[in-house]
Amino acid sequence: MPIPLVDMHCHLDLYPDPQAQVRAIQCSGAYVLSVTTTPRAWEKTSALAQGNARIKTALGLHPQLASERAGELAIFDRLLTQTRYVGEVGLDGSTEGKESWCEQIRVFDHVLDSCVRAGGKILTLHSRSAAEAVLDALERHPGFGVAVLHWFSGTAKELARAIEMDCWFSVGSGMLKSKKGQELARLMPPDRVLTETDGPFAQLGGKALEPAQCQGAIEELSKYWGVDVQATREKVVHSFRTLISL
Ligand code: MN
Repeated sequence: MPIPLVDMHCHLDLYPDPQAQVRAIQCSGAYVLSVTTTPRAWEKTSALAQGNARIKTALGLHPQLASERAGELAIFDRLLTQTRYVGEVGLDGSTEGKESWCEQIRVFDHVLDSCVRAGGKILTLHSRSAAEAVLDALERHPGFGVAVLHWFSGTAKELARAIEMDCWFSVGSGMLKSKKGQELARLMPPDRVLTETDGPFAQLGGKALEPAQCQGAIEELSKYWGVDVQATREKVVHSFRTLISL
């Protein structure tokens, strides 16, 4: 049995044929965290994973949809008891996100507060151009659970703060395409690094990454960590199992 791959952030419901992707995941034995962008999408997306214990479905409200879908926070709160995983949530401080910034903060604070009340969750977090604000928000909500910063693109100083705050990280081929992404990944503690695709948004060679298509990221990490590809796969699976046992 080959060592399974881990995809800690994948938009399974946004592929043209999600069922076919589920079958492929089943064959490969990969662990996949299937994230959602709106609370309303959760039930249908979660149904895709039925019968496959290695696919977990996260309940999310993407920061870029925060103002448009803030009305779905009641659905978020109602569904939160049904999953240990929350995402994609977070903040987006890029030009597109700036307009809805205040609403984003309100929605993210609500999400984190709900996670605290629920006793803590595992969160996959978007922090594009907003690393500092995301970390500030996490600090305002002790007991929210465990943060996994996905596709981290902040500064080295912000990364150091995130490490200090016990955050985890998920890195994929999209992030590792850039020199900056590579440099950040090198600075991350290997024990807290998982792999991801962010498919179908992230692409490789002009094609959307398939769920659990993490071999490229594994090869990069193996260089940073100075161990072979097999050992890198083992390390990532081990870290994943540690994370879910927290
Ligand atoms: Mn995403």
